[in-house]
Amino acid sequence: MAAPLRILVFGKQGSGKGTLATRLHQRLGLPHVSTGDMLRDAAASGSEFGRRVAAIMDAGELVPDDVMEGVVRERLEAPDAAAGFILDGYPRTPGQAAFLDDLLAPEGVTVAIELQVPDDVVRARIVHRRVCTSCGAIYAAGRDAAAESGVCDVCGGSVVQRADDTEEAVGARLATYASLTEPLLGYYSDRGLLERIPGEGDPDSIAEGAVDLVEARRS
Ligand code: AMP
Repeated sequence: MAAPLRILVFGKQGSGKGTLATRLHQRLGLPHVSTGDMLRDAAASGSEFGRRVAAIMDAGELVPDDVMEGVVRERLEAPDAAAGFILDGYPRTPGQAAFLDDLLAPEGVTVAIELQVPDDVVRARIVHRRVCTSCGAIYAAGRDAAAESGVCDVCGGSVVQRADDTEEAVGARLATYASLTEPLLGYYSDRGLLERIPGEGDPDSIAEGAVDLVEARRS
């Protein structure tokens, strides 16, 4: 059996990492595992666990590493992830990176991709971002009709602003990315696993470039 293809997607909030991960999923047929989406689903369920993580997420803070370990282990050990996955939003701390290494040994991570976008660009994107609660399609207020009407063009679901897409939470999340997540990029770079790609521009071209990088690592 071929080695599993395990792709990590890094980028600040609003860098387009969710969009890139979705496109990679469509092109490569591997599951898109978004820890943010998994936590939002838990929050929406209204369970005690969901209420706990919702408070943390709304403040723009990180869910503790030990809590994330259970969530990630269960998802990555599911049968559909055996051939590989596109992991979006994890790891975000050195402790999470160490946990992931243990979980994925001996083959480990295939490639880590970072989408690079300046802070002022992501701030502007986030404040205007609207998402479909059913299919996850992303729109921009002031640009897309669906953001104004509140009705998704793709599935007819409702288009809303995420509870954590506020100015305050964006500031907290950018600070957390700089202090905790950016150092992780060095960790993957030192092991020859990091590919940095510019995150401004046409999402389809960005995704094509990323697929080429992944294919080059596979061979
Ligand atoms: P995201 O959709 O990736 O921007 O994640 C939204 C929020 O979910 C983050 O701001 C965190 O509160 C939480 N979250 C997602 N992934 C993680 C993670 N790996 N570790 C801790 N918290 C996370």
